[in-house]
Amino acid sequence: MPSFPESSSFPEKADLYLLFEFLRFRSISTKPDHAPEMKRCAAWLQDLLNGGGFKAEVAETGGHPAVLAHGPKIAGRPTVLIYGHYDVQPDDPAELWTTPAFEPAIRNGHIFARGASDDKGPILAHILGAIRTLREEGALPVNLIFLIEGEEEVGSTHLAEFIRARRSELRCDVIAVSDTGMVGPGYPTLTQSLRGIAAMEVVVNGPVLDLHSGVFGGAVMNPATALVHLLSRLHNDDGRIAVPGFYDNVTPPTLMEREALAALPLKEADFQRDTGVLLLTGEPDFTTLERIGIRPTAEINGLTSGYQGEGTKTVLPSRASAKLTFRLVPNQTPSRVLDLVEIFFRHHQPPSVEMEIIRGHGGMPYTLDARSPWGAAAVRALEKTFGRSPALMREGGSIPIVQTFQDLLGSETLLLGLAPPGSRAHAPDENFPLENLELGIRLHQALLTELAVR
Ligand SMILES: [Zn+2]
Repeated sequence: MPSFPESSSFPEKADLYLLFEFLRFRSISTKPDHAPEMKRCAAWLQDLLNGGGFKAEVAETGGHPAVLAHGPKIAGRPTVLIYGHYDVQPDDPAELWTTPAFEPAIRNGHIFARGASDDKGPILAHILGAIRTLREEGALPVNLIFLIEGEEEVGSTHLAEFIRARRSELRCDVIAVSDTGMVGPGYPTLTQSLRGIAAMEVVVNGPVLDLHSGVFGGAVMNPATALVHLLSRLHNDDGRIAVPGFYDNVTPPTLMEREALAALPLKEADFQRDTGVLLLTGEPDFTTLERIGIRPTAEINGLTSGYQGEGTKTVLPSRASAKLTFRLVPNQTPSRVLDLVEIFFRHHQPPSVEMEIIRGHGGMPYTLDARSPWGAAAVRALEKTFGRSPALMREGGSIPIVQTFQDLLGSETLLLGLAPPGSRAHAPDENFPLENLELGIRLHQALLTELAVR
């Protein structure tokens, strides 16, 4: 193991050694031939937790196993469930990594490996935090459960079923997850809201087969043309969504919310640089962070029709399709939004083509009240650990498990980010700051203390 400078925020050598071991498992959940490695990785976690004072098991789920562990029972204290995942994304393209993805390496105070920030570094910090408290204090301040799954990167296929089957054992007062980002290095971040999602596919069918565009063009409605006409109606010229009723239930942001977003250390110029676009655009009268964090959207994710090979083919395609998703904010529901969009498309559908609308998955938006007892405890823990008050982030994306927890366990989820910008989750050279292992351990300890006295 390479040496690194001594600093109060650097992890203990034994902890770092454990992270290296954890990162060496090629626990790629999407590759079926990696199943034995997934089992070995889960068994490693089980041993670590059992050795640290937990009662841990590798639990079958119907897919890759989950690791479930309970700390010592303490009557009269709240129960906290920590969720994370030990599976990782594939390392492809492997040649773009500076050092191999499953041979952890330290450079410039960061540990480079697949899974370093998503999510092995953060979940290990929680485990080591609990073990450290048990070693130093002999007891934990709360009843603690770890649920570490092996299928997060493949859509948590069996998680809901597993939680349903083990619901009584998983019952808890609050859930904490470190699988989100930080707004800046060393900048503690509590994700306060996530947008929901509603997915839809629109298929426009015209002639029974592809036609010669010279022989039939001009007399037969082209499904691709019909589809782009429909899609172009989704937004007004100013960027607002034109579907009647779409914004009906959307609460306008309060002045306080707008000020909190404006105070985040994320600037328009950063978005422009990161995306490489000529100009940031969107709904008028909202900033970029507001457009991403608190406003709903309609996006075309895929568009397919006709000839897409090299050169020209004079075809009038028989079919055109588009995949759409809508990001939702509080008070919107996936089914209502899809209803409105379907009515809108049907209203504008040309009579010369058939249209099929296929509804996809949906997820509700999520918000945490940072002034609620659990929210405030998380804010205090982040403040104590990082020495500054946390950014309250409004994330544009969706995390389906948060909804699963709400539905099946009825508990709120605290999203405490440990991955700073530049962690490159899912990309080559994924990394995690060494100091975040130690800070994550201390955050876990502070969080349990604060949740115990909420
Ligand atoms: Zn993750």
